[in-house]
Amino acid sequence: MRRRNFITALLGGAVMAHFPATWASTRDVRYFHDMAVPGDQRDSLAREAGWWRGKVSEDAWRILFEEATEPAGSSPLNGEDRKGTFVCAACYLPLFSSDTKYESGTGWPSFWAAYEKHMDTKTDYKAFWPRTEYHCVRCGGHQGHIFDDGPDPTGKRWCNNGLALRFVPEGEALPALRG
Ligand SMILES: [Zn+2]
Repeated sequence: MRRRNFITALLGGAVMAHFPATWASTRDVRYFHDMAVPGDQRDSLAREAGWWRGKVSEDAWRILFEEATEPAGSSPLNGEDRKGTFVCAACYLPLFSSDTKYESGTGWPSFWAAYEKHMDTKTDYKAFWPRTEYHCVRCGGHQGHIFDDGPDPTGKRWCNNGLALRFVPEGEALPALRG
């Protein structure tokens, strides 16, 4: 290796080591494929945040439409380990299967994948480092952030606000989409 290339490689390694692994998340998200929902059910509702006020609790509204975060350990969904579906608390679009839920120890409901095409991601610069934020593709409600310290098979941790979700146990009908 030529000396200059060696130094470049060394510097590159040092820079990468200082950026958290979340840096690369946006390009690299993998989803859970099992739920087939007609494509038009995922169309954006394009509603103003204010339209949803009063349709969910005030705390849930602040998470969904003002990107607030609930306190760690506060959600009853942390301990929810039944089979079923987690739907968006605002528009009821199914977002996660219980098959992808796991105990991350963080105090927030955590999943290793979301249903494909049911979430949108964007980079959020509110923290010191950029993070991958995700929201419901239909109502735009903010759900949480994706990190790279999840379990197999994706290695992702979808860290979700419990108040932004509603759990529907297996055997119970999913609520009709609203909005
Ligand atoms: Zn939604």
